Amino acid sequence: MAQAELNIAIAGAGLMGRLLAWRLSEKSHRITLFESGSLETPGGACHTAAGMISPLSELFHCPLPIYELGMQSLQHWPQWVKQLEHQTGSQVDYRQSGSVLIAHPQDRNELLQFQQELNAKLGRESGGQLQWLDNPALRNLEPELERFDQGLFLASEADIDNRKLLPALLQALKQNHVQLRENTPAECCPGKIESAGGSESFDLVIDTRGLGARSQIQGLRGVRGEVMVVETPEVQLQRPVRLLHPRYQLYAVPRANNRTVIGATEIESDDLSPISLRSTMELSSALYSIHPAFAEARVIETRVNCRPATMDNLPVVESESGLICVNGLFRHGYLLAPALVQKAESEIGKQTQTLATAQVT
Ligand SMILES: Cc1cc2nc3c(=O)[nH]c(=O)nc-3n(C[C@H](O)[C@H](O)[C@H](O)COP(=O)(O)OP(=O)(O)OC[C@H]3O[C@@H](n4cnc5c(N)ncnc54)[C@H](O)[C@@H]3O)c2cc1C
Repeated sequence: MAQAELNIAIAGAGLMGRLLAWRLSEKSHRITLFESGSLETPGGACHTAAGMISPLSELFHCPLPIYELGMQSLQHWPQWVKQLEHQTGSQVDYRQSGSVLIAHPQDRNELLQFQQELNAKLGRESGGQLQWLDNPALRNLEPELERFDQGLFLASEADIDNRKLLPALLQALKQNHVQLRENTPAECCPGKIESAGGSESFDLVIDTRGLGARSQIQGLRGVRGEVMVVETPEVQLQRPVRLLHPRYQLYAVPRANNRTVIGATEIESDDLSPISLRSTMELSSALYSIHPAFAEARVIETRVNCRPATMDNLPVVESESGLICVNGLFRHGYLLAPALVQKAESEIGKQTQTLATAQVT
């Protein structure tokens, strides 16, 4: 049976709001998207993120559901990106060429511990997903990592350039005639949006406001993250590289134009002030320890934002009649978004079914 065409409001045009608006508008629902800030330069965590889609690397600090949802998302991203690039004619730079984990020789235990943790959490499933790299294998994958004699390769992991994805999604929304209301802070109620323009009714409201939904989601908190973007033609990494270190965890994600996004701090605070001197020094020196040529890299940008996190750091998809909330994507927005879009779509299906049954009886 074809799904009824609904009049849906989405509040929050961050990653989750844009992706949902695009998928739902592709299914012929009528969508109005409310954003408190600017659509060109989103103020949410989505604009700050590094864009890694790394279910295995994240499993080291996270519970199994994050990995499982992440693996589901990895099945959708390639097809969705292809469709988005075809529709908009833009290039989004999705890359599925794995991640490399390295540690300095004195920290070799970090690699062993990572491997043990994954084996314990995944059992036999971890076997094919984790490859130990000796020096020639590492040099073959990442010639610039000549200082390191061992590493781990997680072949299934991917990453996406969020600074290309977000504008491409916006363009697709315009093409799909989504009603866009920027600079319009919204309050979400079942079947209703309240904004400065008054109260508007919809068949369904979807709340994807990230930290903007604090008053509605109990225990939602911000976790500060800082990243830097550096530029140098001297070091050419091929894929995201993570340095395992007892004190600093660093990732370096290569982007177009000789740029590398490095991050990220994780600080229990919802402070949005500029990056601290300490974080700048720690990130820079960890990067420099990967390759000395990073010393001459130019700092192009520093970014700070807060990740929307629940008490248990797991995402929530909550549904009541006329209202669905998707939140708590924490440090995993790009990793989890497609799987959460699917969960939201299944909630929409349940709500329309209930509506149809109520109308018949
Ligand atoms: C430093 C850093 C690095 C990260 N790196 C990664 C990574 O490598 N991989 C990964 O998977 N994830 C990463 N993340 C996490 C990812 O960015 C978030 O999980 C994701 O952006 C959450 O998406 P969201 O749409 O729920 O919220 P957001 O992206 O925060 O978007 C919420 C939107 O709602 C809007 N809004 C707020 N209040 C209102 C209101 N009242 N009315 C209307 N609109 C409103 C905001 O302006 C914003 O545009 C990182 C995050 C940070 C901070």
